[in-house]
Amino acid sequence: MAYQSLNPYDGKILKTFEELTDKQLETALQTAAKCFEIWRHTTFTERTAVLKRAAAILRTRVEDFARPITLEMGKLIEESRGEVALSADILDYYAENAERFLAPQQLTPASGEATIESSPLGVLFGVEPWNFPYYQLARFVAPNLMAGNVVLVKHASNVPQCAIAFADLFIEAGAPVGAYTNLLISKAQVARVIADPRVKGVALTGSEAAGTIVAGQAGGALKKSTMELGGSDAFIVLEDADLDETVKWALWGRINNAGQCCVAAKRFVVVEEVADRFLEKFKAAMGGLKTGDPMDKTTTLAPLSSNQALLTLVDQVDRSVAKGARIVIGGKRVDGSGAFMQPTILTDIEPGTPAYTEEFFGPVALFFRVADEDAAVALANDSSFGLGGSVFTKDIARGKRVASRIDTGMVFINHPTWTAADLPFGGIKHSGYGRELSSLGIQEFVNKKLIRVADINAPA
Ligand code: NAP
Repeated sequence: MAYQSLNPYDGKILKTFEELTDKQLETALQTAAKCFEIWRHTTFTERTAVLKRAAAILRTRVEDFARPITLEMGKLIEESRGEVALSADILDYYAENAERFLAPQQLTPASGEATIESSPLGVLFGVEPWNFPYYQLARFVAPNLMAGNVVLVKHASNVPQCAIAFADLFIEAGAPVGAYTNLLISKAQVARVIADPRVKGVALTGSEAAGTIVAGQAGGALKKSTMELGGSDAFIVLEDADLDETVKWALWGRINNAGQCCVAAKRFVVVEEVADRFLEKFKAAMGGLKTGDPMDKTTTLAPLSSNQALLTLVDQVDRSVAKGARIVIGGKRVDGSGAFMQPTILTDIEPGTPAYTEEFFGPVALFFRVADEDAAVALANDSSFGLGGSVFTKDIARGKRVASRIDTGMVFINHPTWTAADLPFGGIKHSGYGRELSSLGIQEFVNKKLIRVADINAPA
């Protein structure tokens, strides 16, 4: 069964779902295309009312929305509640700011008048991952509905209940049928949707492998796409950092969402002067984590999203160790039925080995000791990824200088890279292209149309 809710904490199947038939998919495409002709003519006030109602429903029924996240992909329940609140913030943010972001822009040409209008493109298609089952949807859906587009979404196959709950939310909030359609479809059907002439743009958040395929399909059909892909963020610790606070953030940055964040701190790049002290404190912090039921608020390390995710991570650790990496702590799966990985730190990682080049999606920290600031920057940039990163130092001016030298889409100072509705999110290199959130995210799928008033009597 392609779409299935399976609890990664106990391995029990909760529910299975049929994929759409081709006929049902065609009906969904027709409905979306028809809805666009209505939705594009609605006012910002009308769209705002729908998004505001959706945000309010999320806030009043946090528990109803949070529990399916934890049941389907294993996130700690408190983090699930936080995700519901963050998703509501994103809906509110675009409801309140979209009209301003998309206001016509007057140009000042040498003569006459010129304006840039932002008009919607049409039916958009989003392919989304399980790691933040609502937040990822909110990032794509909120700006685009506010811009007057309508959306089709193919969510990850392990979070169908979240996918359905979020689509239902918009119907409950008063969106017309076809404004937001969840599609339980196969990969072959994904390719057909991308090729369909009614679909005008494609957004994918997911792995580099999926991004390569979907971006290729979109490119082949000459459609605009955005790609929000994986990362291996560097967490740089300079010698003047406050070590206790830094270790607190190192732990959070690595194990938040059980380590399954695209912008998780993955490579810990620490200057020699403080490397031993940092490692000792970090090891103690990682060793203090407690695995258990993610519904239990005393649990501090959740299971991974699936047994397959766990097998992949263990294999990455094994291959790294075979190439010379040393295990400081952990390194194995936790015995039992849940998809738990031991909190792990690897060190002595050589260039070209799996721990140096691959994204580790789970609670496995990759530790690098470097001589100084320049060496830290060089190591941070020696990656095919370019998503986020962070610099820890008491000297903010220095932190900003280092941040400017890092080749990624986002760098935070004294905090792991994180997200908010009003901050742009996205990467460069193999982490993808385009931006979501903030004023930038709403500009990706609109027609920036020039309207020029010329002087008809001007010399030819
Ligand atoms: P994934 O395997 O790439 O899946 C993401 C989505 O793509 C799912 O809906 C998946 O469907 C679909 N998909 C996969 N292969 C496809 C194909 N050949 N054709 C069409 N659709 C395809 O990624 P994941 O393991 O779920 O998510 C983790 C990855 O996402 C990590 O690399 C993480 O860093 C990245 N991520 C990036 C961001 C960002 O903003 N940059 C945010 C979150 C996560 P199925 O589930 O049916 O396979």
